[in-house]
Amino acid sequence: MSDDMFVESTKRLKKIVPLMMKHRVATTPMNYALWYSYVGNDNPELTSELDELLLSYPILPPIQAQTLYRSFVADEIEAGTWRMRESVEAMLIELGQSIEDTHIDTDKFQSTIDKTFSSLHRVEDEGWSIEEVMGLIRELDGGSKAIRNATQFFSSSLGKAKDEIEILKEELEKSQKLAFYDSLTGLLNRHSFDTELSALLKSNNKGLCLILGDIDHFKKFNDEYGHLLGDQVLKAVGRRLLDATRDGSNAFRFGGEEFAILVPKSGLRQARQYAETLRKLIDKLSLRDKRTSTLIDHITASFGVSEFVEGDTMTSFIARADDFLYKAKEQGRNRVMPL
Ligand code: GH3
Ligand code: MG
Ligand code: MG
Repeated sequence: MSDDMFVESTKRLKKIVPLMMKHRVATTPMNYALWYSYVGNDNPELTSELDELLLSYPILPPIQAQTLYRSFVADEIEAGTWRMRESVEAMLIELGQSIEDTHIDTDKFQSTIDKTFSSLHRVEDEGWSIEEVMGLIRELDGGSKAIRNATQFFSSSLGKAKDEIEILKEELEKSQKLAFYDSLTGLLNRHSFDTELSALLKSNNKGLCLILGDIDHFKKFNDEYGHLLGDQVLKAVGRRLLDATRDGSNAFRFGGEEFAILVPKSGLRQARQYAETLRKLIDKLSLRDKRTSTLIDHITASFGVSEFVEGDTMTSFIARADDFLYKAKEQGRNRVMPL
């Protein structure tokens, strides 16, 4: 490490540690990397986003940190996927080579057998000596040894591949657990929602609001236009919600066609207005079914909103938003409750 780098990194270290303590950020490598970039102002966009978040959250929730890390510092999941793809490729190349080798050896053996057969006729026709016959047998024996070695090598390659597949499977499972995002919509997933909410409830949760949204008559899109089009609708709605996140709010895919938005430091009235904005955005949404060229422009959603109050638990907080969502459905859908 050059002297300059040493001086710079020490300078940053002295700033990072008190800051991480202040915001009670766990000193994991990921967080450290994030704050290292932050104090050095490596990326002004990251600095301003983090500054803004720190205004909303005195204690930075882990998911927010993860999101920033993913967008600005590194893409852990992608890096993992890339590593896995590489090892699968290497394994396939090796396996392919070993299949090819076995083929070559088998072909060689085949021609030895063919040769031996034609020689066998000559044994009778030409009256070969014992020595000459023994020579033939030795040749055959050598050939079969070679083929045995080749198949043994092939089956050990297969065994190794099986072990490697097992390891890859475990890695994949790990990285799926690591995955905070829903693969269809790109929104944070339900697991992230649970983590984030429980972290938020441990810090100052005054004014914390929850918006639950559910697409209206979503089943009809699937039934009329197919599941793939249904997926497109989910993607489009997710995109809209993501684009509309602001002031430290976060959008999650809560369930099948249900979405959740956590709004910190807000209040019921403000969160309700926010939900109303989301409702209008979705109402304006349209997409074309490529198969039939039909324009789908009747996408709407209903919303229920709750504010965290004294005595609430995670469950009661969610249940209140869910009850209001149910009321919004009951009263004709495409609306926000409470009024
Ligand atoms: P409501 O207005 O009362 O909410 O009616 P709805 O049809 O939206 O509600 P319902 O709960 O009856 O249907 C939800 C449907 O969403 C059922 C399920 O097949 C579908 N769904 C859930 N997840 C997915 C998904 O990932 N892709 C697709 N295409 N459909 C999904
Ligand atoms: Mg539903
Ligand atoms: Mg629905």
